[in-house]
Amino acid sequence: MRVGICGAGPAGLTLAAILSREAQAGAFELKLFERGEAQRDQGSGWDMSKAALEALSRAGVDPSTVQRAGSDTMRFYRTGGSRPDVCLRLPTYMKRWGVKKEDVGLDQMNLETERNLIIGGLMDQLGSEVAVQHSTNVCAARRKGDGVELLGTNQEPLGDFDLVVDASGVHSHTRGARFTHSADAFYTGVCLLQGVLRSPEDSLAPEIVSRLGEGSFGIFGPTPSGEGVIELFIQRYGAALDNKVANVNINVPCDDPHALADLVGLSGVHGASSTQEQLEAVKRYYKDSLSHPDWPQCYRELFNEIEAVRLLPVFMHPMAEVLLGEHGVVDGSDSLCFVGVGDALHALPPWSGTSGNFAMQDSADLATALLDLQEQGWCAESLARTVRECERAFLQRADEPRLRCINAGERFKDMLTTRVKDYDYVLSHIAGEKSMFASMETFFIVSFLKTLTWLNRFENYGL
Ligand SMILES: Cc1cc2nc3c(=O)[nH]c(=O)nc-3n(C[C@H](O)[C@H](O)[C@H](O)COP(=O)(O)OP(=O)(O)OC[C@H]3O[C@@H](n4cnc5c(N)ncnc54)[C@H](O)[C@@H]3O)c2cc1C
Repeated sequence: MRVGICGAGPAGLTLAAILSREAQAGAFELKLFERGEAQRDQGSGWDMSKAALEALSRAGVDPSTVQRAGSDTMRFYRTGGSRPDVCLRLPTYMKRWGVKKEDVGLDQMNLETERNLIIGGLMDQLGSEVAVQHSTNVCAARRKGDGVELLGTNQEPLGDFDLVVDASGVHSHTRGARFTHSADAFYTGVCLLQGVLRSPEDSLAPEIVSRLGEGSFGIFGPTPSGEGVIELFIQRYGAALDNKVANVNINVPCDDPHALADLVGLSGVHGASSTQEQLEAVKRYYKDSLSHPDWPQCYRELFNEIEAVRLLPVFMHPMAEVLLGEHGVVDGSDSLCFVGVGDALHALPPWSGTSGNFAMQDSADLATALLDLQEQGWCAESLARTVRECERAFLQRADEPRLRCINAGERFKDMLTTRVKDYDYVLSHIAGEKSMFASMETFFIVSFLKTLTWLNRFENYGL
């Protein structure tokens, strides 16, 4: 089976590596097309769920080589507060009593990972039947005979395949072969402004370094006018403990990401930039954002040593019923041997904490389905049928957190008009609601996290 894979990110590479390791010799011929260059900084990964780690292991990468030990802790403060409002951490005394994270609903709080090592590790697992073509922008996919043809930037043919797997992320160019514009990813109203700090130990105040620990630290305080709330979030992601690198993030609710890009000097810049002029413009923006006197000076100084910056307008896809409904699917495409996985099919925003996990799971499950089909014997019809079943299952399972994420996106706008004293991080981000009594689920989530924070008090929050 000739399989063309668009995108050599976590999803595309996991699929290729599993097929490469588990298929009989000669069963698959795989070609990956990647827009980026082979050598590039991939930035941070994410805290991987059990299912994602299983997919990674199956692809031949030992999870411990990409994870940062001790990074499964997050503390969130408000300016002026000496204790965190939220502390996500399993106290060691509970561990000693034999309590596991999953017993207390903390199974979503996992170790952070380093994306460079994930991508590098997966690339190392690809056998000789896999070709990877970097610096190749796939721009379209179209039916050709029983299979699918891929086209490049100037409509040049990139190859004919029995199956095309779209793993090119939320801004996929090939998705149009299967879904109409009504099923496109939509802008959530929030941009993420991100900077990279090589060594917090060398450049940050001891108070911030201590609160960060080996994991994540957030703090919210007033906007310059005092009328709203702004959040600052720092997270380590280097797998080796002596790799201190961290991301610094602020979420900026705004209707027009282009206007924000102009303001921070990042118009037309894709990915990370480390040019002096752009670094300075972003640092100015960060510092201005924290100019209210309630922000201690050390938080403004935090940006002095930032080495690279990027602006990420956050997009996500609509619910499965929109994609699979009458207007979402391209007419006649049910029989097309084309399927999306990961963010190309069903992106969720970073605050879901799950989009990458679904991406890895999709790839492992698609690999299983293709291996089974290969064993039974396949034709274009059975292949199309199989990928349609996978597509439906992938979309439906990623729907579970989708509505909560849409609500949480709405709450970001409220930050502009909510004073610090009235702001609740858990309600806003994790529950995506205005009141803890909005539903039973919200009530339990909020109560649980407040109790967990209280339990951490007996160990000084792990500081
Ligand atoms: C700040 C941040 C925090 C996050 N936190 C979490 C978290 O806590 N938990 C979680 O599960 N997920 C998280 N995510 C999401 C996670 O990173 C993504 O879901 C995951 O990377 C998706 O993998 P993917 O392979 O589907 O797509 P991507 O990672 O987007 O990879 C797509 C690949 O395709 C390539 N490509 C794109 N267009 C083309 C083209 N036209 N032609 C060829 N190649 C192309 C890209 O260069 C890239 O290599 C976070 C994301 C961000 C940005």
